[in-house]
Amino acid sequence: MAATVLAAMPARGNVRLLRTRSRLIRHASTSQKTWDWSNHQSTGDVARDEVAQLAASPRRPLTLADLLRHGRPPLSKDALLASANFTLSLLPARLASRIQALRNLPFIVVSNPHVSKIYQNYRHSLSTLLPYQQRRITTLEEENQFGDVLADLVQTHTNTIPVLARGFLECRKYVSPADVTRFLDTHLRARIGTRLIAEQHLALHFASQPVSDEPPSRSKPCVTKDSKDAKDVVPSNYIGVIDTAIQPARIIRLCEDFVGEICELKYGVRPRLVIGGEPEASFAHVPVHVEYIITELLKNAFRATIESGNEREPIEVTIAAAPDVPGKEPPVTGDADMGFQLDSNDEAYPSEAMGASNPSSQSITIRIRDRGGGIPPEVLPHIWSYSFTTFSDMDFNAENGNLDALNTISSSGGHPSSIAGLGYGLPLSRAYAEYFGGSIAVQSLWGWGTDVYLTLKGVGKVD
Ligand code: ADP
Ligand code: MG
Repeated sequence: MAATVLAAMPARGNVRLLRTRSRLIRHASTSQKTWDWSNHQSTGDVARDEVAQLAASPRRPLTLADLLRHGRPPLSKDALLASANFTLSLLPARLASRIQALRNLPFIVVSNPHVSKIYQNYRHSLSTLLPYQQRRITTLEEENQFGDVLADLVQTHTNTIPVLARGFLECRKYVSPADVTRFLDTHLRARIGTRLIAEQHLALHFASQPVSDEPPSRSKPCVTKDSKDAKDVVPSNYIGVIDTAIQPARIIRLCEDFVGEICELKYGVRPRLVIGGEPEASFAHVPVHVEYIITELLKNAFRATIESGNEREPIEVTIAAAPDVPGKEPPVTGDADMGFQLDSNDEAYPSEAMGASNPSSQSITIRIRDRGGGIPPEVLPHIWSYSFTTFSDMDFNAENGNLDALNTISSSGGHPSSIAGLGYGLPLSRAYAEYFGGSIAVQSLWGWGTDVYLTLKGVGKVD
């Protein structure tokens, strides 16, 4: 698990940004007035109408089955081209919809340099995809170039979360926390899909690399493009970014190591973790999503356990696997405090989650039980809000606490390497869990501890 510290945004810049902000406030009302983007079209940009048209085109939720449909790599030429064209059929509308959403933000927010940077990134990425959308990808050469475009897209959007978080923190006096959470939740959920679609094709591309029209031999090892030695060989249970045999128990142990190290550095102790239930259970899912969620939940459990002085009490993790009932709705998450509805065209909360579309699908539920004293009743209503945290550190001053926490985000998709402080752990974990029809429910036993139920839906056996 990557723990590289990203120090791309020096906290010292805040003063200048605050000044810019007050200058902007003098010139702009904080009403719902929106930015006139028509004045800001540069060469090579996407026409406003085209964005609107694309954003309005019908989309259906992404499923794990979509990502698995082109088969196990190495792919034949035809399958690789089909995957490229499928990717191309999904991405532009999704990027356009994000551009529209950013355009509709209040003026004071879109004028923020960080938010505006993200807007520019989306416009750039859409403009690089559109030339391919005019025609289908029919040759390996085109597919190769398309691979470069996708790699650029993934790279361009790597730091979206810390940049947006910073932008919204700087605007927090002018937008209500509920509005921020609503925007970020839709945006970050949509980003999960966009990233996954691009990364899936890229992974298949690197693991296939057919050089002729002949279907590659099935016995050929799947080797990444840049690999020089055996350690880069992709494990055979991977189909692109999906591991068809994830063992949650194994991921829990990896995350325990990572979070344990953070705890030792910060508090000088690391609590014990015991795994019960069905540790051998496995299913097909996206390992980076599972890792992200488990890390964030363990950070919360470890922190509460240590800060309540109960570090001798182990964190109990119980794993339960169950076949999914086809057509059944995803379990209710048990919180009504988000007050948030997605527009019907958006891709999160998939109605067609794996449980509904694949009879052999199964759910894995992981209960993480800590003796960290529970969550105070006055804190409970806020835990799903982006940026809400009860963490404070001597290194963080009151004004810049969350901004400084942003500087410790690793480049692996916004994974903070501090124990807490950004306030994104729970809401973003829930976004990841719900993306494929799973859920997270938090049950606090105030004065004692907290149980978190994480349910993830996968596909059953994948041949
Ligand atoms: P962060 O950890 O950065 O503060 P999170 O979204 O992960 O952000 O959590 C928000 C808040 O919810 C925490 O600051 C903490 O007050 C509370 N919380 C979450 N999990 C637990 C837990 N297991 N025990 C006690 N409090 C918790
Ligand atoms: Mg947390």
